[in-house]
Amino acid sequence: MAQSSEMKAAPNDIAPDEAMRRLMDGNARYVENLTQNRDMAAGREARAAAQYPFAGILSCADSRVAPELAFDQGPGELFVVRVAGNFVDTNGLASMEFGVAVLGIPFLMVLGHSSCGAISATIDVIENGTELPGHLPSLTDALKPGVEKALATKPADPLVAATEENVRYNVEKLKTATPIVAEAVSAGKLKIVGGVYDIATGKVELV
Ligand SMILES: [Zn+2]
Repeated sequence: MAQSSEMKAAPNDIAPDEAMRRLMDGNARYVENLTQNRDMAAGREARAAAQYPFAGILSCADSRVAPELAFDQGPGELFVVRVAGNFVDTNGLASMEFGVAVLGIPFLMVLGHSSCGAISATIDVIENGTELPGHLPSLTDALKPGVEKALATKPADPLVAATEENVRYNVEKLKTATPIVAEAVSAGKLKIVGGVYDIATGKVELV
């Protein structure tokens, strides 16, 4: 399954905590508007041969949340799965399994965000019985477990609470996803955390 026959360690062969630090340092630069200047052409030839992303991100599809920008990373550094509401489904899980098993990613983050339309739509469906068109009910159904758990606590800010709980729910779902992801977590090769991106500040807070 290895993508390279080279004997030296892959560039992303780093400890999970080191990967998390690299990611959060990038977010700090982004918040301060001190992102690194990047030569986008540099590394193209190497990237044509292989990829060594050091983190996987399960992000919402929201146009205001751009993982490579928010974490100040260049091409080849993040393995990103995006779906409105940042939840784990079978294909998203399979993508992350590829990232972990084949690419050797040591760190995954489920990334929710402020003002998430998918989460507010799910709250609306639960509280008001709103019927959504097309395939949207499939999406809100997937978000219900975390959102319902948050609403049951009668939170002061339902959207904030539901966003965080949805992240926690999907972090847990990933951590326990057998066989590949759960085994990598048990072996200490993979760390999975949740984060919420604040659109107003650009800051990612761990939840
Ligand atoms: Zn969203």
